[in-house]
Amino acid sequence: MKNYDVLIIGGGPSGSIAAIKLLKAGFNVIILEKLEFPRFVIGESLLPKCNQILDEIGIINDIEKQGFMLKPGAIFINEEKEEEIIDFRNNLGQKWGTSFQVKREEFDNVLLETAKKYGADVIHKIEVVDYNNEENEIIAEDENGNKIVYKTRFVLDASGYGRVLPKLLDLDIPSDLKLRNAILTRMTGETRRDKDKEGFIDIVIHDDNKAWFWGIPFSDGVTSIGIVCEESYFLDTNLSKEEFLLKQINEHKYLKEKYKNAKQVAPVRIINGYSAAIKKMYGKGYALSGNATEFLDPVFSSGVTLALESSSKVASLIIKELNGEEVNWKKDYEDYMMIGINVFREFVYAWYEGKLRKIFYAPNKSKQIEKSIASILSGYVWDESNYFVKNTKQKIDALVSLIDSEVNAK
Ligand code: FAD
Repeated sequence: MKNYDVLIIGGGPSGSIAAIKLLKAGFNVIILEKLEFPRFVIGESLLPKCNQILDEIGIINDIEKQGFMLKPGAIFINEEKEEEIIDFRNNLGQKWGTSFQVKREEFDNVLLETAKKYGADVIHKIEVVDYNNEENEIIAEDENGNKIVYKTRFVLDASGYGRVLPKLLDLDIPSDLKLRNAILTRMTGETRRDKDKEGFIDIVIHDDNKAWFWGIPFSDGVTSIGIVCEESYFLDTNLSKEEFLLKQINEHKYLKEKYKNAKQVAPVRIINGYSAAIKKMYGKGYALSGNATEFLDPVFSSGVTLALESSSKVASLIIKELNGEEVNWKKDYEDYMMIGINVFREFVYAWYEGKLRKIFYAPNKSKQIEKSIASILSGYVWDESNYFVKNTKQKIDALVSLIDSEVNAK
């Protein structure tokens, strides 16, 4: 049996980024991945903060040469087709002002291949089924049902929606966000934006904020489209997911026009119950990163950003620990991650409560507020010079009150 310094569960972005950092520091790493790659996973719109992390790890060139669609920002569109453009390049001075729209089966594959290039042992079609925390042994089952035991100095759970250690160690707690559904597909042939607005993600507000759509254009002419709504909003219609998606598209002025000549090129999928929370992100000999920790909501495309930031951070701390240094996991990992997660959490709440809509569509926003919002939505949620990073809820509420009083004074 081969002994590894670090065993990583899951070969998504979180697992690959941690692996690359650990391998560069001279540790040996194995990644156990349940599926054959390339594999479908949702989460196709990245934020500039991702580019910053990929740059710091030294692999941004490997991504840039893939020809992914450049993403300069997000365009929010309401029921009246009014557009609010958030241009990530209008940030608070951060270097990275754009990111990419990616088919995750392609993006994740590049990251995993890069991890292999740096020396990761990667085994596919093997599922982690148990963990002996005392001995730091992982038990995995291959496709023939054989059980294999791996001994390791440290386990990193990057299993995303698999939530392997949260389930095995009873770390899961219910999310405080409502149960929502996402119903999605891919299309081609819809009307695309002109060159100067190419690559922006569409976030389309529907039915007085009861639902919203994403539209993510890829460089090969395919577009990812999905609707997010509370479960009852879908179930009460008694429609199939295919009928529901089509009906909602046709009921929105902007979408009806945009997709009138579009052709569906992928099955309609439904994803539900994806918001998740956790009691703690680490323990003796193990840690969790990416979606295996908290997952909030897709509206601001924060998932991969948080996955990359957490795995980059966790890898630095694992390196310290394996080198015999003292690590303050609570302060340097969990508390740190929660700063960024909580900023996004307040933005997500403010979105569903209709507060952000008021802010986005307010006519006289200051340039500083515009930049601060662009910066947050770019993923720079640890930048304490940003107005919204500390006391996020109070700051949003204060701004909404100001906007309301200006409207009332007219
Ligand atoms: P994953 O990408 O899920 O990778 C985990 C890997 O672990 C998988 O390959 C899986 O096969 C493997 N695995 C699982 N269990 C086991 C096991 N027992 N043994 C071995 N391997 C295992 N994020 C964005 O950034 N942008 C978006 O636009 C966006 N849109 C979203 C839309 C919706 C509707 C939802 C629900 C999420 C969205 N997200 C988005 C979030 C995004 O999907 C995740 O945050 C991201 O995939 C997390 O990456 P990860 O590496 O942690 O996990």
